[in-house]
Amino acid sequence: MKTPNESPKTPKRNPKNKVTANIKLPPVKQGLQQHLIFSTFKTSDAATPRDWYEAASYTVRDHVVERWVKTAESYYKDDPKRVYYLSLEFLIGRMLSNTALNLGLNDELKEGLAALGRDLEATVEIENDAALGNGGLGRLAACFLDSMATMDIPAAGYGIRYEYGMFRQSIENGQQVENPDNWLRYGNIWEFQRPEAHYNIRFYGHVVTYPEDGCQAQRWVDAEHVVAMAYDVPVPGYGTETVNNLRLWAAKAAREFDLRHFNDGNYERAVQERNATESISKILYPNDVCELGKELRLKQQYFFVSASIQDILRRFLTSREIKCQEDWKILPEKIAIQLNDTHPSIGVAEMMYQLVDEHHLPWDFAWGLVGKIFAYTNHTLMPEALETWSVDLFGRLLPRHLEIIYKINHEFLHMVNHHFPGDVELLKRVSIIDETHGRRVRMAHLAVVGSHTVNGVAALHSELLKSTLFADFDRIYPGKMTNVTNGITPRRWLNQANPGLTGLIEKAIGPDFKKDLSHIKKITPLADDADFRKAFAQVKQANKMRLAEKIQKVTGVVLNPDSLFDVQIKRIHEYKRQLLNVLHVVTLYNRIRSGEQGMTPRTVIFGGKAAPGYAMAKQIIRLINDVAAIVNEDVVVGDRLKVVFYPNYEVSAAEILFPGSDLSEQISTAGTEASGTGNMKMALNGALTIGTLDGANVEIKEEVGDENIFIFGLTTPQVAELKANGYNPRDYYNGNAELKQVLDMIASGYFSVEEPGRYQNIVDNLLNNDQYLLLADYASYIKTQDEVGKLYRDRDAWIRMAVLNVANMSKFSSDRAIGDYAKNIWHVSPGNS
Ligand SMILES: *Cc1c(COP(=O)(O)O)cnc(C)c1O
Repeated sequence: MKTPNESPKTPKRNPKNKVTANIKLPPVKQGLQQHLIFSTFKTSDAATPRDWYEAASYTVRDHVVERWVKTAESYYKDDPKRVYYLSLEFLIGRMLSNTALNLGLNDELKEGLAALGRDLEATVEIENDAALGNGGLGRLAACFLDSMATMDIPAAGYGIRYEYGMFRQSIENGQQVENPDNWLRYGNIWEFQRPEAHYNIRFYGHVVTYPEDGCQAQRWVDAEHVVAMAYDVPVPGYGTETVNNLRLWAAKAAREFDLRHFNDGNYERAVQERNATESISKILYPNDVCELGKELRLKQQYFFVSASIQDILRRFLTSREIKCQEDWKILPEKIAIQLNDTHPSIGVAEMMYQLVDEHHLPWDFAWGLVGKIFAYTNHTLMPEALETWSVDLFGRLLPRHLEIIYKINHEFLHMVNHHFPGDVELLKRVSIIDETHGRRVRMAHLAVVGSHTVNGVAALHSELLKSTLFADFDRIYPGKMTNVTNGITPRRWLNQANPGLTGLIEKAIGPDFKKDLSHIKKITPLADDADFRKAFAQVKQANKMRLAEKIQKVTGVVLNPDSLFDVQIKRIHEYKRQLLNVLHVVTLYNRIRSGEQGMTPRTVIFGGKAAPGYAMAKQIIRLINDVAAIVNEDVVVGDRLKVVFYPNYEVSAAEILFPGSDLSEQISTAGTEASGTGNMKMALNGALTIGTLDGANVEIKEEVGDENIFIFGLTTPQVAELKANGYNPRDYYNGNAELKQVLDMIASGYFSVEEPGRYQNIVDNLLNNDQYLLLADYASYIKTQDEVGKLYRDRDAWIRMAVLNVANMSKFSSDRAIGDYAKNIWHVSPGNS
């Protein structure tokens, strides 16, 4: 047995040097004054708002660092089982406000700043969002980090430190324009570079076979090297001393690699290669559509996964003495790795590579360990979103890993054939290598084969996984598929985003719900308390005013805060059906123009980014803005109907939008939205849902009761049946006069007079194909929206329902979700570090 490679070293701790024993931090106000001078080198007269933001961040950071060091020490000492959450995306948003909240420093910070003549809200607004994710999947990872720390689970996140996060969206002439998100321009106070924590990552080269202990062994040679360097971001729990770590990797050129060209005297070439290498961590891929199959993306995945697994094994090895094979047996008792979607699923092969080639464990023994370490979360059933890589590309970039995958597949198919003899079609369907589409590696199959547990993200989605996408695997591995319904952290999405509602609830039932959301149930009887409803309505109104002010500032549109704020904020995608919402808007517009009286005034707010390569999604944004331009200018309409597109939807925007919403649009075609988490944030902030029986809407309905949610449209089986029987959207067009009028207007250029044919393609698509069944659900949607409008006029009844929504949201806390993962998948106990 080779001695494990211990570099880079974790210093052995001498218990007598307790570095954290006697840290005494000054009061916040004093910290602000000191940091303004010593960290930003400014006097308070010369300080800009950014200087104050920095002084505030350094001050709060001192407190988080203190606990962070203690947490690391205790993990090192107690050596608990650790959970590693691998995700290509972490949509964490701003750090200052959330850190101050979780550390319990909010009031002190507010007072400290006020005493120095500064405003807390204006100060936190300076911070750029860390937008290291596309949407729900990345935000889920961020909510999970918050919950793991809050529940004292020894956990770490691993991802990529993208130099450019998600693009910044602006709207010009009604169209989306993508601007670079240079979020690190002014530096990032919340990250710590760790030059000592770096690993070599290899690409290309080839595999040689050599004899070892009388057997044939493989070695990967002549590869190019990239260095992964760690940046650590603190993840403080709420109401606990625990501060976990999020480790993000940046690509740096390897030194030897540069020197080759320097020695040739080719300076320019050396610099160019450095830039090419470092491009691995430059950009976040917008991954909704057409972005699959790119070499750089596979490189990103391998880069961060390899660095993370080397780091995980290094930590394991420095915590104990490993002298023989037997000593490795406890590996699965010490680490659990969660794969957030298939993006990090190459980890299964990388772990085999590390254990077999680098640490010289026998293949079967290593595979036995791997099968107890990994678990995989599936986020989509959509075939176009399931990752595959061409065998050619894969083999060129990672030749040894392709061999490893072939061997895993060979043994897997052998096992399947043993249990289902002679079923050749089954073997073809489940093989990790797809031979039917020009030989591709199916990453989802690798993830399923290499994991002990596979979970969907809502009850409906997990059932559909078992009955459709992974039906074969469910037969092969009975019991491997399970469900963990997603959740959101109530710290950011209630406490931080909605201090008004938080204060009201706290006054009524005390503060326990802030740490443990199950206590929020106690407000249930207050739904019938007129004073409480009045106070609740006032909070909602104040949040709507705050949102209206913000919207006026960013779009110029003046809103009527007494109107129903009808909000759909999420990535723009055909399956999410923003277009169905537009059809409703135009329907209302036509009713107003035809003289209908007594309608409930509405403000319809959209927000979300379209993937830059997704032409139809960008067209939908343009249509929303074109419709807004006509409707908002029409004097006949007045303030009975307004349409707004809120640009650059991101976490900090979401924090204003959710509390200011009355109606939550969750209208995806049944069977397409795996879970949704925007639906949960909305309900927790007292918005009522209009939605289909899709994703977590199904469970929201179960929790709040059928009478407190607006459900419409086809169910998943009805969708399947309609499609199977030959869906003809024109039947619906011809059979519904309002729908026909709306589509004819859009097609004829009513909203695009300067270019009448602009939306012909959208309408043609609906009439001839309509993959997401907008026309089939239109009548049901309109009818339900009419009920919504009617109910809103009985404000007291509406508020009562809203209170009951808030009261019944405890299931959707990410603490509940993390509790499920801890118990059923990771086998770690909260608080048992
Ligand atoms: C919650 C959230 C999402 C996910 O929203 P869905 O409605 O579930 O698609 C996306 N982006 C941001 C910024 C979020 O906060």
